Amino acid sequence: MNIPQSSFPRIIIIGGGFGGIALAKKLSKKEVQVVLLDRHNYHTFQPLLYQVSTGGLEPDSIAYPIRKVLQGYPNFYFRLAEVFQIHTEDRTVETNIGTIGYDYLVVATGSETNFFGNKGIEEKGMAMKTIPQSLNLRSLILENFEQALLTDDLHQRDALMNFVIVGGGPTGVELAGALAEIKKGILPKDYPDLDTRRAQINLVQGSDRILPAMSEVASHKAERFLEQLGVNVWKDIRVTDYDGQRVTTSTNTSFETATLIWAAGVQAVNIPGLNGKELLCRGNRLKVNRYHQVEGFEEIFAIGDVAQMETEAFPNGHPMMAQPAMQQGRNLGENLVRLLDDKPMKPFVYRDKGSMATVGRNKAVVDLPKIKFQGVFAWFVWMFVHLYFLIGFRNRLVVFINWVYNYVRFDREARLIIRPFKKQYRTSKSRN
Ligand SMILES: Cc1cc2nc3c(=O)[nH]c(=O)nc-3n(C[C@H](O)[C@H](O)[C@H](O)COP(=O)(O)OP(=O)(O)OC[C@H]3O[C@@H](n4cnc5c(N)ncnc54)[C@H](O)[C@@H]3O)c2cc1C
Repeated sequence: MNIPQSSFPRIIIIGGGFGGIALAKKLSKKEVQVVLLDRHNYHTFQPLLYQVSTGGLEPDSIAYPIRKVLQGYPNFYFRLAEVFQIHTEDRTVETNIGTIGYDYLVVATGSETNFFGNKGIEEKGMAMKTIPQSLNLRSLILENFEQALLTDDLHQRDALMNFVIVGGGPTGVELAGALAEIKKGILPKDYPDLDTRRAQINLVQGSDRILPAMSEVASHKAERFLEQLGVNVWKDIRVTDYDGQRVTTSTNTSFETATLIWAAGVQAVNIPGLNGKELLCRGNRLKVNRYHQVEGFEEIFAIGDVAQMETEAFPNGHPMMAQPAMQQGRNLGENLVRLLDDKPMKPFVYRDKGSMATVGRNKAVVDLPKIKFQGVFAWFVWMFVHLYFLIGFRNRLVVFINWVYNYVRFDREARLIIRPFKKQYRTSKSRN
């Protein structure tokens, strides 16, 4: 990998996400050699992926070059590499560009979509966890409308204009709201010769309320906002299968759609070598202690979505969200320095700063530790927080300008089919 030997201990970080970057920043001026490995050369701001999928933002405005984050950090090395295997016995990691040894290893690989073993949904449905996936979804949505114009089969046309979003967490809610706004504000103008009023946006949630991780008041308000936007919210329904045309559920309800978007679960991204059964908790997360050390190892740490730290306040681990990942990255950075200075490490304590979700224009719900609010002010708070946490001045500026423009013009101009994407849609004829 062409990384020089150094007298400083070598810390390898796998993953330049929220956790990995926060950790790297903490180590920037310390006497350590840091090697950051990621399969992408950019950091993804996942909370705004849905805006890329729905043409509100260009992908470059929510991605940031990892090399730029590390600019000016002495003893830092970034390598664009996919890690395949961890060899704990000889303390090396194996990647597609070679093998490298570590003194300390930090696994910050995040999570991926969990289809819970349902092959039909995995094959025919759409996930939205990465920028390429969001671009695929954007293309698919737009291509479906182009296709709907061409067919005179009403049944097929409806299916091409129907959307089923599975999972009523923040991702599902935000996506449903954005699609509803497109239906209302953009489709009638873009497709005047298509009866876009027939387009249906269905949000399907397995439990009895959407946004189950937020307060009841936030759930109810978000549901009301979605209904105002014309979204059909289905609760207590589990999607069981999808064949590319028909969505079957745990009830008698089924849907005909060319677009099923799966936002109903994630699981940790594990790397072979550290995936022994005794280390894994629910959702494939790695069991770590209060100092982020993976069970059984003093020199291997895990942070963020991939780590499960069970505490009294969080017996099932911290939420798989950006805040815990960042706070863990910062805490681990301090602890690694303390470890090298022969000082005792500090146990991690998560400070919950609250959660929020937006449903659309002027509509958001915010739960802070001491206060909960919804509506226009919540929407401004949501925008401010997202701008604040985006990495890079240019990204913040571009996103801000886009949002102002979209707000004033009721528009989303990134509705471009740059790289066509087609999922196989099974027509009624092809089914026979
Ligand atoms: C659509 C969506 C919306 C979300 N909205 C919110 C929100 O509103 N608020 C919130 O707090 N959280 C939100 N989240 C969750 C939040 O993004 C994650 O909790 C957070 O990204 C976790 O950070 P992390 O550092 O653990 O992993 P990530 O940020 O996912 O980073 C993991 C990194 O590891 C790299 N990697 C993985 N495996 C390998 C490998 N084998 N080799 C090399 N590199 C590898 C990946 O390329 C990636 O860069 C959302 C997530 C999604 C998908």
